[in-house]
Amino acid sequence: MEDLMEKIVSLCKRRGFVFPGSEIYGGLANSWDYGPLGAQMRMNIKTDWWKKVVEQRDDMVGLDGSILMNPKVWIASGHVGHFSDPLVEDVESHKRYRADHLVEEVLGISADGMSTQELNELIQKNNIKSPEGNALTPAKQFNLMFETKIGKTEDDKSVVYLRPETAQAIFVNFKNVLDTTRKRLPFGVAQIGKAFRNEITPGNFVFRTLEFEQMEIEYFLEEGDWETHFNAWVAWMQKWAASLGIQTDHLHAEDIAQEKLAHYSKRTIDFEFEFPFGKKELWGLAYRTNFDLTNHQEHSKQKLEYSDPNDNSKKLIPHVVEPTFGVDRTLLAILCSAYHEEEVEGETRVVMKFKPHMAPYQVAVLPLMKKGGLAEKAREVMEGLLPHFRCEYDETGSIGKRYRRQDEIGTPYAITVDFETLESGTVTVRNRDTMEQERISTNDLIEYISRNTK
Ligand code: ATP
Repeated sequence: MEDLMEKIVSLCKRRGFVFPGSEIYGGLANSWDYGPLGAQMRMNIKTDWWKKVVEQRDDMVGLDGSILMNPKVWIASGHVGHFSDPLVEDVESHKRYRADHLVEEVLGISADGMSTQELNELIQKNNIKSPEGNALTPAKQFNLMFETKIGKTEDDKSVVYLRPETAQAIFVNFKNVLDTTRKRLPFGVAQIGKAFRNEITPGNFVFRTLEFEQMEIEYFLEEGDWETHFNAWVAWMQKWAASLGIQTDHLHAEDIAQEKLAHYSKRTIDFEFEFPFGKKELWGLAYRTNFDLTNHQEHSKQKLEYSDPNDNSKKLIPHVVEPTFGVDRTLLAILCSAYHEEEVEGETRVVMKFKPHMAPYQVAVLPLMKKGGLAEKAREVMEGLLPHFRCEYDETGSIGKRYRRQDEIGTPYAITVDFETLESGTVTVRNRDTMEQERISTNDLIEYISRNTK
């Protein structure tokens, strides 16, 4: 399975999905840049999500909050006080490790939600050492927020944080959204944006990075209704995963045990995906009660209540159900699900079986050869398709090699322009998955591909 991850990382580099960050300067540990194909797929994921959760729903609106917020936001949300990981240090090498991860690896148990004291006891009792075999310091909490400073002053007042999650902008703007949209409960606010966490043990490619992108929803509701909406979001998330081409038999909705829940959460589900490096959180869904709005009301001294439109005397602080998605982990799950190797005529064919709406390109246009007017004709065919589909033109190398390349980047259809095209106006359309070819009139191409990429 680890081997599969290596193959995916190598394909991503070779074909332009994901590059190591700042590569010409020797890189920056655990940072990745998305190449042309990865950037397009991230856009496809975000566009699909936004369309489905904002544009096609009457009970949802969007928001685009800023990355830098007043630091009081992060005091009220609990991030300044509690958003930390328990770390231990190797006494010889001074390298730091997540205490909970070491305990999990060595003892094979879940250390989710364990206190520093519990972790220290387990480390002592089981004589757990660092991966280098040295003794460890006791675990200490290490805040995950990145700090930076505004302006030139170096005093503490100018400290701001890069947001560790996008959700808080939704709570902070709750009143603004309510007043301007006149939405009535239940309604949701969705947001897509970068978040930053100073993770001490990043890794597994784009699974855990310091900078990543989230798609988050706060769905505001009356307390009594939370379970109905929670269940509706579970179903929505499972359906969306399948529509993206994520292997549903690899996706598990794991209820977090009561004793491990954050103190404000009454129920949390981690959607775990069987990545090649293990079963890990892909997305999350939490019922956060009205913890966040209540805290922001208290700290900001601004009323964050909702008045019942049918009964003005009834005021309440709405509760929320929070579905949260990582763009990068979603892309990784799609890549892992799509990767296939097949034996074809004694060779291994690598094919990324992306759903057409997620594929970087939907159509490749390939002249059989450059000469004889085929290149010109192929370009003409592509010009006609470009307004409708994401297309790539490729005239380099043998047709067989070009098909293999399109298989590896997951293009569902490859159109070949040959000499018959010049005579009869037909092209061959090769299906990525079946490798079957059909002759189709150029006049029917748009209709044919639209029908088959739905
Ligand atoms: P983990 O337990 O893996 O650290 P988390 O429970 O801290 O994740 P949340 O705070 O619930 O994660 O964040 C919401 C979503 O953001 C996650 O489900 C995941 O998809 C994504 N995410 C969180 N941290 C990272 C990261 N360091 N790199 C990439 N994506 C991340």
